[in-house]
Amino acid sequence: MAVANSLGQPLSGLAGIGSKTAEHFAKLRIYNLSDLLLHLPSRYEDRTRIIPINQLSPGNSALIVGAIDFIDVLPRGRKSLICQIKDDTGTIHLRFFHFTARQYNALKPGTTLICYGEVRYGYNGLEMLHPDYKIATEHQPITPESSLTAIYPLVQGLHQNVVRKAIKTALTLANKPPQNLQEWLPESVLQTLALPDFRSALNTLHLPQPATTLDYLTNDDSPARRRLALEELLAHHLSVKTAKLYARSWQAPKLLDNSPDLAKFVSALPFSLTTAQSRVIGEIIADCQRQHPMMRLVQGDVGSGKTVVAAYAAILAVTSGYQVAIMAPTELLAEQHYRNFCTWLTPLATEVALLTGHVKGKARSGLLQQLADGDLHILIGTHALFQDDVHFNRLGLVIIDEQHRFGVHQRLALRAKGQHNNLRPHQLIMTATPIPRTLAMLRYSDLDISSIDELPPGRKPITTSVIASERRQEVIGRIAAWVGKMRQAYWVCTLIEESDVLQCEAAEKTAAYLTQALPDIRIGLLHGRMKNADKEATMLAFKNNAIDLLVATTVIEVGVDIPNASLMIIENPERLGLSQLHQLRGRVGRGADESYCLLLYQAPLSDTARQRLGILRESQDGFLIAEKDLQLRGPGEVMGVRQTGQINFKVADLVKHADLLDNIPAIADQLVAEAPEAITPLIKRWLGHTTDYSEV
Ligand code: ADP
Ligand code: MG
Repeated sequence: MAVANSLGQPLSGLAGIGSKTAEHFAKLRIYNLSDLLLHLPSRYEDRTRIIPINQLSPGNSALIVGAIDFIDVLPRGRKSLICQIKDDTGTIHLRFFHFTARQYNALKPGTTLICYGEVRYGYNGLEMLHPDYKIATEHQPITPESSLTAIYPLVQGLHQNVVRKAIKTALTLANKPPQNLQEWLPESVLQTLALPDFRSALNTLHLPQPATTLDYLTNDDSPARRRLALEELLAHHLSVKTAKLYARSWQAPKLLDNSPDLAKFVSALPFSLTTAQSRVIGEIIADCQRQHPMMRLVQGDVGSGKTVVAAYAAILAVTSGYQVAIMAPTELLAEQHYRNFCTWLTPLATEVALLTGHVKGKARSGLLQQLADGDLHILIGTHALFQDDVHFNRLGLVIIDEQHRFGVHQRLALRAKGQHNNLRPHQLIMTATPIPRTLAMLRYSDLDISSIDELPPGRKPITTSVIASERRQEVIGRIAAWVGKMRQAYWVCTLIEESDVLQCEAAEKTAAYLTQALPDIRIGLLHGRMKNADKEATMLAFKNNAIDLLVATTVIEVGVDIPNASLMIIENPERLGLSQLHQLRGRVGRGADESYCLLLYQAPLSDTARQRLGILRESQDGFLIAEKDLQLRGPGEVMGVRQTGQINFKVADLVKHADLLDNIPAIADQLVAEAPEAITPLIKRWLGHTTDYSEV
């Protein structure tokens, strides 16, 4: 369609935009005219009214007009150019630290200037630092702007004027007939929600009419912004919704639950399954009997027993003649799963193997051969499972543990490995981070969700305390007493999450310090940069009670399961997300004894931080914690900074626009029924550059 094409036209076609500028725009993820139009102003400046100088107040920005009294270059401190201007009401200084000779020469006393800038206190009363200014000439009299001035988010190298001009041009082009800013939302929706159409929303935000006030525009809940946010949320929802429909058209192997091995496995367990575990297993069995790939997310709080459920599903696949891939986010966890699966499945004559980045050479090639031949039934690993030379013989089920650590694309890559006689493997995703309802709708609606909403019986609640780090000695004393009772403990160091090196150094220092402070206690150290064999040896020693206190980085966050260790100290908890802290804390409270978690924070705490740690102290409900965290910190952070595939919204804000979400599913259904032709263009408009959006 010619209409769509013209907005899809690359930026470099626009007058005044060369390839260099286009590169800068690309950093803002703006590649074509349509993207440009969705790049909304972050704020507006009011250059419509001239403010008398005696009415200026510091901290406010204003437009002023005055004649130059004098100019001077002050060598004092940093060299600066001072220009005093006056109007009928008073005088003010303009100050420039950067100026050219040409500029200096043009600013002659008596000349009239129009300036816009922020007013602040200077050495000599009020001043404006580096204001925007224009010199009035006979041919160019001074006039204020007729409407508010849009200010756009920038990247280095891109000038405000360039962006503004490009958007103006794009808007002019788009406003021309034929209708270029296609309206895709049904008229009835806009009427019900009292929202403007797409074209007027964009025009209002980019080129406000003279009557449009600052209040109206800067309010995030202005109808114009809400209108665009609604459409963006809808586009995200539609993209997963269509992916789900698409996936339903694939064929998958039928997995039947008629093998005696399944009952054997369950009866050999040292406990009986909880009602919730049995229910979820039932849901999995029902899915896998169908012809289409299961895509199920199992969410269950830490310690709810997801691993057993995964094992059941694995046996289901193996006894039906298929292979299983199990992917964990860390080696530590992959190894733990491997040990568990060996214990459970070896009696059933099932071959289980572990593939991590550390399996190399002959061992690796032998393992891959077995896998390709079909002699290996279950392969457990980290993302090493994605590598190109990993070929399954008959992959029937993919299990992904703690899924928030994996991106959508990693999920896809593993799914593609299963193409066997056109059969796609079933997919089971396990997560302890409950997906807040809002995110579920936008990101995970391609998945069916099961909840293990019950902990195994006999678990005691964890007592959580929030303690200032000044009381560290007291805490150390508590460890000594604790270990005296033959109990074990964790000490978790959380430095900057992104820096592995620093985090490990911190753990090393803490371990050294604690070794000195607690000479009678056996202290172990665990961090991500240790050799694999050392890590494993340490974990084993801790498990066998040969270590009393394990000093660790957040590598122990997921999965680790040692019931006798039921005291945990977390340093600098204020630096982590609540869900992550909840996961960490989930390492304790696994046995039948009382458990404790001490959050050793660095004072002073911000109000938000205090509130957040308070939530953790009060609640042990992972779902509630995630919802609160979402409210306090925003969606990206809830899922962890390292999470890939998180949603980057252009306009929408999941907190501010939360109320709009309730409308989304119904609008999506309406479009599917009444205007299916709108779906692809809508997704393209908002998610055009997210690769594979149709296959998420
Ligand atoms: P998570 O859901 O956090 O992955 P795990 O699968 O690691 O939890 O299980 C936590 C602990 O609970 C393990 O020691 C596991 O053996 C045990 N467990 C699992 N299911 C039950 C059950 N039904 N009754 C008692 N203990 C159970
Ligand atoms: Mg687990």
